[in-house]
Amino acid sequence: MRKVRLPKHRHYPLILRRDVIRLERRDTKIVPYWLKLPVFGVRGGIWLGLKPHCDVPLDCSLREAKLIRRKNSWTVHLTIQREVPGPVIDERPILAIDLGERYLATVCGSNGINPQFLGKEVRGIRRHYGWLRKRLGERKLLSIIEKVGPTEQRKVNDICHKVSRQIVNQAKETGSVIVLGNLKGIRKKAKGRRMNRIVSGMPYYKLTQFIKYKAAWEGIPVVVISEAYTSKTCHRCGCLGSRPCQGLFLGHSCGLRYSADLNGARNILKRAGEYISSAGAALAQPVTQVRT
Ligand SMILES: [Zn+2]
Repeated sequence: MRKVRLPKHRHYPLILRRDVIRLERRDTKIVPYWLKLPVFGVRGGIWLGLKPHCDVPLDCSLREAKLIRRKNSWTVHLTIQREVPGPVIDERPILAIDLGERYLATVCGSNGINPQFLGKEVRGIRRHYGWLRKRLGERKLLSIIEKVGPTEQRKVNDICHKVSRQIVNQAKETGSVIVLGNLKGIRKKAKGRRMNRIVSGMPYYKLTQFIKYKAAWEGIPVVVISEAYTSKTCHRCGCLGSRPCQGLFLGHSCGLRYSADLNGARNILKRAGEYISSAGAALAQPVTQVRT
């Protein structure tokens, strides 16, 4: 075992390679996990008790760790790795996710799953903090503006975690494949400066990453397909449509009146069905890495 000098100020956060650390589960009274850190001048390193925020599965291997200092406490970020078997996806039901502005995620499934509209709070949170920042800016309260940023981020993060968890759990229960639209399509969908600003601040990338890693962890396949025209096409007959107001989709030739969000999700579902049956074979799933 090699020894690493704990630096005082530089090289922060400290990254510990996996060959210098060891993690053990010992169900002691104080803490369940112990981490061995190599410390300069201490033979064999020191054992530190860890209070994890979630269970660390035993069938995985340890990757590198990151040591982070927060005020008076130390946090260690452990990256763990698990091999997930490559699933066969062509016969599974599909859970389609459309990312939008009104609802962060609209979910619909191919096996009679009721549509769901998730993450409605994000828009309100973003509007509130946008408003707050503007007011604080007018009063030149810059130090307060700096403080509200992380609060907004934390709230949005929480919602992304909840929404992704809910989607992944549902896919797990129904044995579904998760299908997401690619994010390029969302950028294109936004027309005009105002919508562009709104859409570019939405946590789509974050939510997509959360869904991907949580799904990979459970062995649920995630397929990303093109989102082009999913908001302009009628899901029932494929005719061109428009959105006379934000929440409504209107099919031009068939006269379909439908929730715009759900219409998008249904189009993704339909396209995914075609794509998966044509691609047929199992899509290889990469090994996933999860932080705890
Ligand atoms: Zn139509």
